[in-house]
Amino acid sequence: MGRATLLDQLQSAFSALLAGVAPVLPWLGPALVVLIVLLAPLPGRGPGLAERDPWRGFRYAPRRRALERAGGRCEAPGFIVWGRCEAPAAEVDHVYPWSRGGATVLSNAQALCAGHNRAKSSLRPPWWYVLGLERRRRGYFPDGEEVRVSGAMTAEDRAARASRVSAGGPPPPGARPRRPSRSGRR
Ligand SMILES: [Zn+2]
Repeated sequence: MGRATLLDQLQSAFSALLAGVAPVLPWLGPALVVLIVLLAPLPGRGPGLAERDPWRGFRYAPRRRALERAGGRCEAPGFIVWGRCEAPAAEVDHVYPWSRGGATVLSNAQALCAGHNRAKSSLRPPWWYVLGLERRRRGYFPDGEEVRVSGAMTAEDRAARASRVSAGGPPPPGARPRRPSRSGRR
């Protein structure tokens, strides 16, 4: 095959490709905007620039309370944002992932069934997931229980934890020795 023919073929393949893509081009901008809106987080709820919480998982009393307030049932939506999963809760999970700085505190806990726990994403949840969870919770949380989701640790959370640690009991659940902070990195 001569060089000219190969070039010709490449050229015609390229123009065919362009002709196929052209009708879609005007939609790329709007589609990108929709995608950005769908993936946006809810302002003010995430952990911010938090370091990883030295407490890795929900255990003991916080775990029991998270399961209790959910009535022992999975808190995930049934379908995208509608309804509620019917399965019994098997795990207590971070709404804002621990690996992304989400604190191991009740305001960041959700009870999940085994299936939803496996399927959970390690990405920070978008605004509609968090608002949907809060909306469902108004229907089943006990009176007076805070439905608001927050991935950050409050001063109150810190104080409660410090008093537990300084009470001289066994090491706090999930505690790990703090690694020395590496300077120059976030
Ligand atoms: Zn579920």
